[in-house]
Amino acid sequence: MNPSLSELQEQATQAIAGADDLNALDQVRVSYLGKKGAIKALLKQTGALAPEERRPFGQAVNALRDAVTTELEARKATLQAQAEAARLEAGWLDVTLPADTPRVGKEHPITGLLREVTDHFHGLGFTVASGPEIEDAFHNFDALNIPANHPARDVWDTFYTEEGGIPRTHTSSVQIRTLEKATLPLRIIAPGKCFRNETIDATHLAAFNQCEGLFIDKNVTVGHLKATLEGLVERLMGYKVPTRFRPAFYPFVEPGLDLDIECIFCKGSGCSICKHSGWIEVIPCGMVHPNVLRACGHDPEEWNGFAFGMGFDRMVMLRYGIDDLRRLYDGNLELVRGL
Ligand SMILES: [Zn+2]
Repeated sequence: MNPSLSELQEQATQAIAGADDLNALDQVRVSYLGKKGAIKALLKQTGALAPEERRPFGQAVNALRDAVTTELEARKATLQAQAEAARLEAGWLDVTLPADTPRVGKEHPITGLLREVTDHFHGLGFTVASGPEIEDAFHNFDALNIPANHPARDVWDTFYTEEGGIPRTHTSSVQIRTLEKATLPLRIIAPGKCFRNETIDATHLAAFNQCEGLFIDKNVTVGHLKATLEGLVERLMGYKVPTRFRPAFYPFVEPGLDLDIECIFCKGSGCSICKHSGWIEVIPCGMVHPNVLRACGHDPEEWNGFAFGMGFDRMVMLRYGIDDLRRLYDGNLELVRGL
């Protein structure tokens, strides 16, 4: 080997052995193998040599570079092992590090509310009924006293599948399916998805959740309806919230009513959410129309009852003070305060 090369290798070996931590070793590496290092400088000299000397010189420098690289790697492994041993010796657990905050999964607020509503009605002797999400016109409209010329059946309000099926516009269709087969008396709730051809905004969605209830017995009065729904609202809102019933028209009930609760945002003094009325409509309801009982094969002279339907998403919104329904279907529910 060229004497100056063997000298350089000797120096490198000593420098590597003398590096007593990883930083020092890295400096040694840079000084020999770096862009401005000694070995690079040697390679630059190649051009000044006689042509026949270039090849053997180049090979010698490459061999030197490989030898230095091998030594560096060996020393690095040794130093790393020493550092690891020292760290374990000193105790590896750093109790001053901040802990990770555990991320706890929770049920979706709509699922939570559904569980609570179901539990509440189980206590009153109701069972849960379900039915298909794609309905026919009889179960979604006709049996509910909504005739073919009713504006609700317009395509602007209702989706239709290419085969003529109707993604149900309310879970009232489940009441009809249950009533058709039922032996009376009957107490059911029917929670589920519904679909309407709505323009989506903060208070309207094209797919939403509803929960309907149906109570059929003998000599049922508006008093039964009122007590049942006031109890439900108190359970869901967690306090005895002031309520009022207003007359309303729905084809499948007579009389039809709307249950309002005092605005939870302004406590009745009036705000933009309650349109300055101090009240928020939460549960449309009423006494089941005799035509509905008749359409399902029951005698309205013998049986009567009440029905109600609540928008589940709306109830969740009120309960948690959420100002935009779309948030409930957003991936990041942490944005919803109170959850
Ligand atoms: Zn208000």
